[in-house]
Amino acid sequence: MLTIRSSRWAHCSALVALPLFAACSTISQQQEVEMGAQESQQVAAQLPMLNDATINAYVNSLGRNLASTTSRSDLNWQFAVVNTDVINAFALPGGYIYVNRGVLSRASNESELAGVLGHEIEHVVRRHSVQQMEQAQGANVGVGIACALTNVCSNGVAAAAINIGGTAVFAKFSREDEIQADEGGFQNVLHAGINPHGMLTFFQKLLAEEQQGGGSSAASSWFADHPGTQDRIADIERMLQENANRLTGLRTDSQAFQTMKRRLGQLPAAPKAATR
Ligand SMILES: [Zn+2]
Repeated sequence: MLTIRSSRWAHCSALVALPLFAACSTISQQQEVEMGAQESQQVAAQLPMLNDATINAYVNSLGRNLASTTSRSDLNWQFAVVNTDVINAFALPGGYIYVNRGVLSRASNESELAGVLGHEIEHVVRRHSVQQMEQAQGANVGVGIACALTNVCSNGVAAAAINIGGTAVFAKFSREDEIQADEGGFQNVLHAGINPHGMLTFFQKLLAEEQQGGGSSAASSWFADHPGTQDRIADIERMLQENANRLTGLRTDSQAFQTMKRRLGQLPAAPKAATR
């Protein structure tokens, strides 16, 4: 089984015509985009995607609106929904953002979904995963993807595949990366004219769900991949206070969001996922 990781490295070394990963120490935007495009094809093949025109159009419209405010607005940003109730979201290099259906169903308003997308967008803006590749010495980087859990990938919509989501891309992000993605994500939401208060309410909702579920809730995957949630909530509260005078007049919700929610409610349930 070809893994996304091995294909990436093969690609990288082929580009520079040298077998040593050290040769990949600087990854250009073009290389990054090519890697992301390759990986996105594998994600689409391995994960159950929610191919609903209304929902995809809305998520892409919101996501591109957010991404257009960033320093990497030139990327061809693509947003897709994974058809699982597991709560998670992840980003591939080059501007490919995935959000699980579980996030859409938990989000009560546009502000909450924008917070999640703004955060993932910021990981790409700051090239977090690309930096990990650039710093990598040798092939033992990170956890590898997906098919490391082999039976997952050969199983079609195998439940566990869905949990790849958060860890799909390389090693996990550090707490520092997560805080950076929150802080940049907060600004991305703000610059798009949306009230970032939803970042706080969504995190609080996940935390409550996780505490109720005793560590095996639909939100557990999120907590495993996004370390330090409680510290991050405090950081977001601080940013909300500091930016209080910039928040008046910003929108919290939209008709398009509620139309998306109604459409989501009409669809057959997501395939059952195993918890990690
Ligand atoms: Zn993150």
